[in-house]
Amino acid sequence: MKAHPPESKIFPSLIFLETTVACDYSCRHCRADSQPLPSNDEMSLGEFRDIIDQVYEIWGNKPILVITGGNPLLRSDIKSIISYVRLKGFRFAFSPAASDLLDNSFLKFLKLNRCSSVSLSLDGVSPETHDWLRRKDGSLNITFDLIGRIMQEGLNLQINTTVMSRNILELPAIASLIHDSGISAWEVFFLINTGRGINVDGISPEEYMQVNYWLSELWRYGLNIRTVEGPVFRIIGEIAEKQPSAVIGKTYQILSEKTDAILEECGSSKRKSRSGHTYNHGGTIFISHNGNVYPSGLFNLKLGNLRENSLQSILGRNPEYSALSIREKLGGKCGICEFKYRCGGSRARALYSTGDAFGADPLCLYIPGIKRGDIGIALH
Ligand code: SF4
Repeated sequence: MKAHPPESKIFPSLIFLETTVACDYSCRHCRADSQPLPSNDEMSLGEFRDIIDQVYEIWGNKPILVITGGNPLLRSDIKSIISYVRLKGFRFAFSPAASDLLDNSFLKFLKLNRCSSVSLSLDGVSPETHDWLRRKDGSLNITFDLIGRIMQEGLNLQINTTVMSRNILELPAIASLIHDSGISAWEVFFLINTGRGINVDGISPEEYMQVNYWLSELWRYGLNIRTVEGPVFRIIGEIAEKQPSAVIGKTYQILSEKTDAILEECGSSKRKSRSGHTYNHGGTIFISHNGNVYPSGLFNLKLGNLRENSLQSILGRNPEYSALSIREKLGGKCGICEFKYRCGGSRARALYSTGDAFGADPLCLYIPGIKRGDIGIALH
């Protein structure tokens, strides 16, 4: 009988493998700070195999591995990495840049290897937004073409959108495209100014809260939505009941009107929010192209390097960044908030904005402990 390694009961749901920082694009908001050619310190196929073995030793094949970049298709050995992931029995998602390298033959390879999901970035429905962000004319058309071919191949497709001041009013049109195309998931990222994204305008606290509330109502259209670095999404419906002024305002009204104008309701006609799912630190581990380990791709806090130490010892030396421990250590208003275990705020945003990874999420307007229907002035 095949022996299984000892497994920890708590395991990260997603482990990101940044296979390269090489990319055909130079997006203005790129977390990876991508470059045209591979970096000199990129890990080899053997090193990636060793890391996959280490993950298996700790948690078995429970975590989903996300093969990302840069553009992972720029690695000549990408098929070998994926084959090893499958050999060890992991489920995997594939996160490429939208380029001609993602041809039909590669899509068939992904299908054959039971890829759980392919994700593509779509940050606008107009070239003025999408191509501008990617600094490449025609990238929107390439993305639209790929959406069609990925769906045709029968693969699950996830669209990733980063919310910025530049594209906030295009969100309803993106929602409409996802709805009409039957795309399985929409992952909405709230910009953290890291990598090249340091120079991109994010959104205000009012916009952050109102966009999350608007997203929480889109279940009526059958959309499957997750947020990244938007943990308030999990409890935004409860905030709406307790402190409506924190989630309803001009941005929410505009987004709702645009959405109602372009999407036919397919669920209840009653406008109602529903709590949602969100990824941030704690449930994820991010392993960079050169072996650095971070709590997540946007949480710019290096925990160690896999060329120097094992994954087990790096995680053992940083227990405060586990999902539960991080909430026990929260300070500022997140530390006294009744939602701290279900929301907890974005640690990546707190770190970037205040230098304190355990401080308050600077985009949250909720006042902890407020009574239902109160109107108050937000604290930070
Ligand atoms: S105060 Fe912090 S924990 Fe509470 S809702 Fe806001 S971000 Fe979440």
